[in-house]
Amino acid sequence: MSDIKIFHDNDADLSLLNGLTVGVIGYGSQGRAQALNMRDSGVKVIVGVRQGPSFEKAKEDGFAVFSVKEAAEQADIIHILLPDEKQADIYKNEIEPCMKAGKILSCSHGFNICFKYIVPPTDVDVIMTAPKAPGTEVRKTYEAGFGVPGLVAAHQDASGKAKQIALAIAKAEGLTRAGVLECTFEQETYEDLFGEQAVLCGGTVELIKAGFETLTEAGYPPEMAYFECLHELKLIVDLIYEGGIQKMNEVISNTAEWGEYVTGAKLIDAGVKAKMKEVLNDIESGKFAKEWMEEVHNGATVLKKKREDLGAHPIEIVGKKIRSLFEKK
Ligand code: NDP
Ligand code: MG
Repeated sequence: MSDIKIFHDNDADLSLLNGLTVGVIGYGSQGRAQALNMRDSGVKVIVGVRQGPSFEKAKEDGFAVFSVKEAAEQADIIHILLPDEKQADIYKNEIEPCMKAGKILSCSHGFNICFKYIVPPTDVDVIMTAPKAPGTEVRKTYEAGFGVPGLVAAHQDASGKAKQIALAIAKAEGLTRAGVLECTFEQETYEDLFGEQAVLCGGTVELIKAGFETLTEAGYPPEMAYFECLHELKLIVDLIYEGGIQKMNEVISNTAEWGEYVTGAKLIDAGVKAKMKEVLNDIESGKFAKEWMEEVHNGATVLKKKREDLGAHPIEIVGKKIRSLFEKK
């Protein structure tokens, strides 16, 4: 274990937010959950978002809703929860003109600050509170009286209390009920990108597809291959989440456990790890971020094509059929 610091409710002081207005910019997955949690914790929250479904939702939830620019003008803490790839342009056009001395710029993912797509003035605090869960979980666990774990970071400390403010926001969001880790913007950004690319999204999805393709190309029924390579993954991950890999191994058969030891390492070998190191290097050097921002500025045509291709993959087609056949009626 490293000596990383973990903070709980007692380490955070909500009264630091007294008299301050938090402008939640963006009312999507994280925006809605964090805004509702903070309001329920007694914080004054306004919402800034463009006209559209999010705007209507925030009004329905009882918030004072403004354009991004108006909310950024009124707020003391500007908490940006817009899609990462859009933040730089929106910041430049609508937020930067309001970044007066003493304001606090806050976010839940360090991408834009870390790779310098947003460069705030030096006389503002720049902080992060990042829940380690999707928005729906952030809200659901808060309502149940607890919270999800999270990260806090202070990138720029103009006021001398940037970290304490970040902790107060984390408390208002319910994160310190579970515990928050202190990190740097770079650690959060690089680890988050690496995790989603190498393991959680990129790695897992390709592993599922490769397994499904291997079985179906060998003539096995796609319906069965779907159960083996996709459906059961949830049951395995739930066990690992609850009690670690050893707990999972206690529940699966001895045959499955033996197969795990001898075959797993043959597949995910030193070559895969060497490629993971390259992935991490490309993240740390900014190469991945640069290519992704270029893709966005080119109209995200490759992204759209990839989405289409995935929709046509047999695992998605058979998956729809299976899920409708086996759902609770
Ligand atoms: P969403 O896509 O769910 O929500 C984005 C919000 O931004 C929507 O309300 C959207 O409104 C609004 N928006 C989009 N474009 C504009 C625009 N041009 N002007 C004004 N508003 C706009 O994003 P997430 O909540 O997933 O992500 C927000 C941040 O939280 C990101 O930094 C992300 O990395 C971070 N994060 C996300 C996690 C997750 O699990 N999702 C976990 C931890 C951090 P509209 O309805 O009009 O499109
Ligand atoms: Mg993540």
